[in-house]
Amino acid sequence: MPILEGKKNEPLFPTRSSKTSWFRKLAALVGLTIVLCLVGKQAPGATILQQPTLEYLPNIFQNGQLDLCHQEKPLVPQRNSELWSNLSKTFGTEDFKDRAIGWLAGAVKYPTESYDNMDPVGVDPRWDTFGPLQEYLISAFPLVNTKLSLAKINTYGLLYEWTGSDTSLKPIVLAAHQDVVPVLPETVKEWTHPPYSGYFDGTRIWGRGASDDKSGLIGILSAVESMLEKGFEPTRTVVLAFGFDEEAHGHYGAAELAKAMLDVYGGNAFAFIIDEGGGFGEVYGSTIATPSIAEKGYMDLLVEVASPGGHSSVPPKHTSIGMLARVLVELEDHPYPVQITKDHILYRTLQCFAAHSKDLPKDFRKAIKRSASSKKAMKALNDIISQEPRFAASVGTTQALDLINGGVKTNALPERASAVINHRISTLEHVSNVKEHSTKTVKHLADKFNLTFNAFGITLTDPSVPKYGDLSLSVAFGKSDLEPAPITPTEGSNAGPYKLLSSTIRAAYREHRGLGTEVEAGVEEDDDIVVAPGMSTGNTDTKYYWDLTEHILRYNHRNAGTPEAPSTGGVHTVNEYIEVDSFLEMIKFFSMLILNADESTTI
Ligand SMILES: [Zn+2]
Repeated sequence: MPILEGKKNEPLFPTRSSKTSWFRKLAALVGLTIVLCLVGKQAPGATILQQPTLEYLPNIFQNGQLDLCHQEKPLVPQRNSELWSNLSKTFGTEDFKDRAIGWLAGAVKYPTESYDNMDPVGVDPRWDTFGPLQEYLISAFPLVNTKLSLAKINTYGLLYEWTGSDTSLKPIVLAAHQDVVPVLPETVKEWTHPPYSGYFDGTRIWGRGASDDKSGLIGILSAVESMLEKGFEPTRTVVLAFGFDEEAHGHYGAAELAKAMLDVYGGNAFAFIIDEGGGFGEVYGSTIATPSIAEKGYMDLLVEVASPGGHSSVPPKHTSIGMLARVLVELEDHPYPVQITKDHILYRTLQCFAAHSKDLPKDFRKAIKRSASSKKAMKALNDIISQEPRFAASVGTTQALDLINGGVKTNALPERASAVINHRISTLEHVSNVKEHSTKTVKHLADKFNLTFNAFGITLTDPSVPKYGDLSLSVAFGKSDLEPAPITPTEGSNAGPYKLLSSTIRAAYREHRGLGTEVEAGVEEDDDIVVAPGMSTGNTDTKYYWDLTEHILRYNHRNAGTPEAPSTGGVHTVNEYIEVDSFLEMIKFFSMLILNADESTTI
């Protein structure tokens, strides 16, 4: 995940430890409680059981019972059941654990850092760290590198094909990235174990990339190598796509891999693509996996003000910097609304919390459940999520003023001043909404300061009238805008890949804990895992993969653990680690997913 886009593995939603503060907030919302009481009177139980008109929730009733969060049944490989039980035994041995630790620790030792604004491969020497990593991968995974075909894309992009016997089946893609977020030299002393040591302390593997995303990269390769060792030959082709600059926008890695895959396989050629993204962990007292089925859009807005220079001893009333400051304040004072609707992915995630999270605050649960049929409850729900930055950011378009520049000398009036505002665009909005909102918000200031106003290439003031200076809005850095990702289908006949993923998550989770993987195994809900559609506020390499499949799944079965005992941490900061047990579970998950996809007739 790019460096500015939040910490992965930090659960997107508040967990049990934040429950107390939730209760405090809720207690403070006396008005809200009153609203909920009123809602309670107006929407008795019989009313809330009316089936809402939600086309994407066709399973909302199961056997006459309200089913807010339909769960797929766990699925273990059938045709390959013998292979699976054999693999599963191997994965449980101390020998395999040692190999897995060695594989991941070995990869962590290569400081494959990627930076913003790097020059192309072959020009910028900082790419040279990737060569030794790739030599390591070839020696560590000999079968992968002899049995699969490999194309190197733009030198360091790795595109493997494990050719299946039935080429009429759509291939699947397992993706990960080889690069890591740079370690700031001044923070090295804060690391308990050196960042590129791959140190194993008996429980955890430490180092930059141990979690993000070398656990994904090595998890996939370990799974494939192990399956090759058992002699598995796929029916369905498996493609592995490993970029090398995901943390720096993916221009050289994933963008080029996407072109290569489009050339070789064509558009919409894959049954699904799975890449890093959501994991699972404890949310409000229950274990919930949240595969991301969408990503927000993106735009960096450049605001520039220009006005005549001169000596500071004879200043105008407003300098370029003063006018820019006024424009920025105006934009911050007009944030985008947070308004959850039934179409938001968060709404669906919340349905799962309401149905399954045992420690969800009572009023929150009530608001979620009743919101399906009550506008008042929906408003109450919106009030609750607006108080929580992570929920609010998940629903609405956000803006963050991140860069500012202007002025060169204290005795010279600044001729130019500029700022960049980062936007993450709601999945229900578009780049055009951001352009429209910012244009409307600041237009009156162009008039007030008598500036020519150019918004995204269009001059909105009368060019024949003389002006004092210029105000312009544009997309920063040439082309930094990105529409929200298409939403991966999760319901109906076109949702085979998501359902397969859900079933595999549930089976892999149960298998790893020695719970029954059979559907009717009598697993207590407290011990089980719930799968809820989730979304990401940041972007991954998959932003280049939209044309390759409708079914992009951002999930790698990484266990976030509980707030009291996290299983992974330090992503994008100091002391990154992953517990070996979590890493082993990832390997099992990838193996099971490959086998389940191989056998599937619904993807
Ligand atoms: Zn990542």
